[in-house]
Amino acid sequence: MQSIYEKYDLKHVINASGRMTILGVSTPTPEVIERVAYGLNHYFEIKDLVNKTGAYIAKLLNVEDAVVVSCASAGIAQAVAAVITRDDDDLLLNLHTSSKSIPREIVLPKGHNVNFGAPVDTMVTLGGGTVIEAGFANECTSAQLSAKITPQTVAILYIKSHHTVQKSMLSVREAAEVARKHNVPLIVDAAAEEDLTRYYQDGADLVIYSGAKAIEGPTSGLVLGKKQYVEWVKRQSQGIGRAMKVGKEGILGLTLAIEQYLMATKETGAEMVNRLTPFIEKLNAIPAISAHIVWDAAGRDIARAEISFDEKAIGKTTHQIINELKQGDTAIYFREYKANEGKVEADIRSVNNEQLDVIAERIQLLVEGI
Ligand SMILES: *Cc1c(COP(=O)(O)O)cnc(C)c1O
Repeated sequence: MQSIYEKYDLKHVINASGRMTILGVSTPTPEVIERVAYGLNHYFEIKDLVNKTGAYIAKLLNVEDAVVVSCASAGIAQAVAAVITRDDDDLLLNLHTSSKSIPREIVLPKGHNVNFGAPVDTMVTLGGGTVIEAGFANECTSAQLSAKITPQTVAILYIKSHHTVQKSMLSVREAAEVARKHNVPLIVDAAAEEDLTRYYQDGADLVIYSGAKAIEGPTSGLVLGKKQYVEWVKRQSQGIGRAMKVGKEGILGLTLAIEQYLMATKETGAEMVNRLTPFIEKLNAIPAISAHIVWDAAGRDIARAEISFDEKAIGKTTHQIINELKQGDTAIYFREYKANEGKVEADIRSVNNEQLDVIAERIQLLVEGI
């Protein structure tokens, strides 16, 4: 039988980049896939499905309430719309066009105003908010965050991510203290984070996760938090939420994926080091290539191989090498954030040992003849 790859002329991919939207993020377990199919095959009272799966997830995580949304970006936009709209029906239906003069400012540490694949600012604006940056590109203290809070502030937004500036940034707990002091809610975008309870416990009112990243569910997102705020997020399904509708299959699939995620024993950083060690030894035997273990910058238990290219000896820039590895029948994707320093990182969470051998062979070919 013709494969899907052949039918549509698609390239096979070795994903050594991690949970990347440009490659399809992750591959759910067979049980989650079966649950998605069950969802597609049945009708439900959707309001009931939303409320009861949300309550089920909330109980699993020991939080007040939760709701499944279509993705984390949709979660950010709807969380912002929720804190602006609250119980106001007119605002719900006229979020962007209402002439009511109401607070719309979302205060965000400047170093958190990042592009995660799309800009944080765009999602806030989509939700009817206006970003107000606090602090500096490389620093934000509690006092600097406090200084930007005015009667126009509707919430503080904190992005917990490897994409953000890490140094000299206040913690989620400190941001929560500022929020309490000024009586505004704290929204935390923890899209790719692995801990589903920590930021809620640290005092966030709403916490947002991507369903397909750490949790490895179907394309979806999770918003959890204080009951009143989650209720306001749910209301957005009659407003901007309609343009980011999550299906019954996503709701059921993510609910099971969370349940499995909490029980699963996932590969530890130490186990990743064990798998990476022979790979790194192989790479270090190749001329003009050097490799070693690096740990996740955001503090997650993830070990990766940092691979450096001697651009002069190879006669190619790292960007050219990255492009070359994406050519051919099988495209190899690394983490490219440090390409300007002549390095890439290999994340092996979605790479098996045979694929590691293929990667080493392809890198060997690069330097052939030098
Ligand atoms: C991936 C990511 C998002 C977006 O998640 P989606 O589910 O793809 O919409 C938002 N914020 C951060 C920090 C992310 O890493």
